[in-house]
Amino acid sequence: MRTHAQAVVIGGGVIGCSILYHLTKLGWTDVVLLERDELTSGSTWHAAANIHGLHDSTNISRIQHYTMNLYKSLEAETGQSCGVFQPGSLYLAQTEAREHQLRLQAAKAKLYDMNFYEISRDEAERLHPLVNFDGIRCIMWEPDGGNVDPSGVTNAYASGARQNGAEIIRFCPVTATEQQPDGSWIVRTPKGDIATDWVINAAGLWGREVAAMAGVTLPLQPTEHQYFVTETIADIAALDRRLPSVSDRDGEYYLRQEGKGLLVGAYERDMRFWAEEGTPLGFGHELFADDLERIEDNMMRAIERVPAVGEAGIKRVINGPMIWSPDANVLFGPVPELSNYFCCNGIIPGFSQSGGMGLMAAQWIVEGETKYDMFAWDMARFGDWADKTFTKARVRDQYAHRFAIHFPNEERSAGRPSRARPVHDLQKEMGAVMGLNIGWEHPLWFADTPGVTDTNGFTRQNWWEPVGAECRMLREHAGIIDISNFAKYRCAGPAAEEWLNAVFANRMPQKVGRSCLTPLIGKRGGIAGDFTVTRLADDEFWIIGSGMAERYHQRFFKQVSLTGGTTFESQTTALCGFNVAGPESRALLQRLTNTSLATEDFPFMRSQRVEIAGVDCLALRVSFTGDLGWELHCAEADQLRLYTALIETGKAFGAGPVGSRALMSLRIEKGYGSWGREYSPEYYPQEVGLDRLCKMDKDFLNKSAVADTLASPAREQLVLLALDASDTDASNADATGGEPIFKDGQGIGRVTSGTYGYTVGKSLALGFVRAAIPGDRVEVMVLGKPHGATILAEPPFDPKGARLRV
Ligand SMILES: Cc1cc2nc3c(=O)[nH]c(=O)nc-3n(C[C@H](O)[C@H](O)[C@H](O)COP(=O)(O)OP(=O)(O)OC[C@H]3O[C@@H](n4cnc5c(N)ncnc54)[C@H](O)[C@@H]3O)c2cc1C
Repeated sequence: MRTHAQAVVIGGGVIGCSILYHLTKLGWTDVVLLERDELTSGSTWHAAANIHGLHDSTNISRIQHYTMNLYKSLEAETGQSCGVFQPGSLYLAQTEAREHQLRLQAAKAKLYDMNFYEISRDEAERLHPLVNFDGIRCIMWEPDGGNVDPSGVTNAYASGARQNGAEIIRFCPVTATEQQPDGSWIVRTPKGDIATDWVINAAGLWGREVAAMAGVTLPLQPTEHQYFVTETIADIAALDRRLPSVSDRDGEYYLRQEGKGLLVGAYERDMRFWAEEGTPLGFGHELFADDLERIEDNMMRAIERVPAVGEAGIKRVINGPMIWSPDANVLFGPVPELSNYFCCNGIIPGFSQSGGMGLMAAQWIVEGETKYDMFAWDMARFGDWADKTFTKARVRDQYAHRFAIHFPNEERSAGRPSRARPVHDLQKEMGAVMGLNIGWEHPLWFADTPGVTDTNGFTRQNWWEPVGAECRMLREHAGIIDISNFAKYRCAGPAAEEWLNAVFANRMPQKVGRSCLTPLIGKRGGIAGDFTVTRLADDEFWIIGSGMAERYHQRFFKQVSLTGGTTFESQTTALCGFNVAGPESRALLQRLTNTSLATEDFPFMRSQRVEIAGVDCLALRVSFTGDLGWELHCAEADQLRLYTALIETGKAFGAGPVGSRALMSLRIEKGYGSWGREYSPEYYPQEVGLDRLCKMDKDFLNKSAVADTLASPAREQLVLLALDASDTDASNADATGGEPIFKDGQGIGRVTSGTYGYTVGKSLALGFVRAAIPGDRVEVMVLGKPHGATILAEPPFDPKGARLRV
């Protein structure tokens, strides 16, 4: 057996084989795949292998479309049949919310030139005569939907990879992976060891066990999953064509033709975990005993919709294992704490996504970054806090609600609380409705009474009015926002300034007490992060970034070596913070401190150590609300004391607690971008107005990449839009993100964040557009229907920034 490879892929399921194939496509041919058994030995061999293109997420839609198109070219390239059937898919809406979801997807499909559109009932009946369309509100048609042969696809990837020079070694279980001091790896197997630059964990059902060999714990949990196939149905046997598949997600089942019968699968509420203590090493091409009683409710709904299902006998039941992450999305990307260890685990729709996931993995490994922003699937979105209890609770919830609509702003309660700060109980008593952010509980908004929970939907919900009241309170008086979940770092030592200048694109503040905003630049010259850096001393800096992206950013920070006794450490857990903002914030805080907060003593963008209510705080005069305000950061042990003092003192000023939903609205009124929405590695600095913060007269991480992007014209521009009041009132909905933008019938862009601007009285959206300028009239597809909107020339709240500086 060979002793060296550029990359070793562990696992010969559909995902491992696709990654191997795509590595060779990007030019890495000295690559090997190790499979403990035959190819397809995990979840792959028994999958129903339905394929779909459209998804709520645009980048997943892109990945799925790439995958669907790839299967045809893969067959031609390798001569190996993928067993592709594309008779189309019918999507049915039984509820108003489902109709909104499908209409939005159809609008996105138009923008991205994808095939997904509404058809009439007559047309649907012609396409699928066995479906009873009674009670269906709208029907969408995806002509390319269908299914593939799981083993054909896997073997086609394998053949393609082999043709390009890769090697596949079957019956070769990996028993250990050991990182070497130089960052490379030794992969051990009973057939010998392989030294390699990259290890890729595509071990599917055994993803946890393989990760553990490298000391990594992955939040994954397998479940059982069942589908059945009917005997031949005479009406189908009589047809000279294949029937489309049926996506009746409100019915919570999937259905398609298999042979001359039908295949029906279900994600039942009464789900079953499997292999809670670890996937047995000897598990092979095995299935579980079937238990159709468990999916009886789903079956009955399928029979109601397609009566032929109930009339035919059951020929075969498949009850096999699949492995889930806490949010049912793949755990993707290099493990931030290790060098060159890539994960692609916990993928549920492996056949819809295999090609795109393989391509993205190969891009990340070979080129250093994916072309699409993969943050929502990045394994770095979880951390140690996502322990076994949390993972199981979330997987149970995800499985049981697989086909439920996941609404914008929706917060699932399963597995919570995971991590809470000292003020948590008090906030709950004050009526806080909590959300989950990177494991932390944090207040989304405050209800009049404790115990209230969110309602969910695409339209304005029960939090809409209270969030408005919080926004108005802050703009008219002051508000106290818990910002403890922001990521906080300290960099100290003789080379601190030098190191930060080498990491970040902006020049670090020269004077003690000054702050600067800075982008972090990605490998392709896009925005990998946005930070506020404050100089606390000659050799000490304080950095604030996105809490959600803390683990993701580790990968960037470790690319620049720390030298000469300089340290860089996270203080996110140790410290808590509040933003006190609004016109009365100075007076409120001044009551609690002897330090002068007057502008001449404490100007905008400055920082000082300040004692507030006897609590030692680092105070920064900045506010994401766009209003006068201070961020106060203190030790976690002092959080409750500080919060109590702020809330009690605030009463005299008409101030009170404000949640993160209000913060979202206030920052959009100012046109401020936010990480993961307006700032992403897919966007260039000049497209989001951050180019002036890239100092090209110094060296920094990925400077040459950003030099290239800055030299090219902006492909699109971040703009703020105001939606016509009459339109949004009529639909009682605001944009939330992802809605396409059209001008004169042409797709010109999409919304990244939306809100109602309560203190400016406008429904607002931030988004990217091509070929449009301020003042232009456009249409935003809220709920999938056109809403008139105007591109604004400046933010509607305080465009000159006077309120920040008073
Ligand atoms: C009943 C059922 C129906 C499904 N229907 C669909 C569907 O309609 N559409 C769809 O898109 N998806 C479907 N899926 C999901 C799909 O099967 C999975 O997403 C996909 O197979 C995952 O592939 P994988 O390569 O990640 O993992 P796996 O298929 O589990 O492959 C992992 C491989 O790694 C190997 N391995 C493990 N440990 C080691 C080791 N130490 N050394 C070497 N090799 C190792 C295993 O032997 C195995 O071959 C279904 C799943 C089930 C259970």
